[in-house]
Amino acid sequence: MSHGSPVNREVLLDPATWYQCQRCTNCCRWPGDVRLAEGETERIAGFLGMSEEAFIERYTRLRSDRKGLSLVERKDHSCIMLKDGGCRIHEVKPVQCAGFPNLWNFPGWQDECEAVPVPIEQAREMGMVE
Ligand code: SF4
Ligand code: SF4
Repeated sequence: MSHGSPVNREVLLDPATWYQCQRCTNCCRWPGDVRLAEGETERIAGFLGMSEEAFIERYTRLRSDRKGLSLVERKDHSCIMLKDGGCRIHEVKPVQCAGFPNLWNFPGWQDECEAVPVPIEQAREMGMVE
């Protein structure tokens, strides 16, 4: 799930618009790192009822830049946490996942993502954005 460096949403997105994820899982099937930020291994391990050590051993690998951990990807490039058409750690998914496409994206993202534009005020009223 990596398409180069994250960019500021104002660069590619209208700040008056929020994009509501449709859970198509396309972004869970792209090749690349699913970066795990500080504290996320502990949080996800707890959610799965595992020790942090066991979680790291079973579900993570070094990132391509070797500066941290990524979730493992399967041979078909889908994320190891993709199960039965959804994310098995949805409630505690990494910030990288939760932030796409509103907080980071890449040129051409709309060709690969089915998120639906919603006026930002309506998104706030619906609790999708603070
Ligand atoms: S952690 Fe969940 S949301 Fe993130 S890429 Fe994997 S399956 Fe998709
Ligand atoms: S963010 Fe976009 S690509 Fe990812 S699951 Fe949601 S709609 Fe699909």
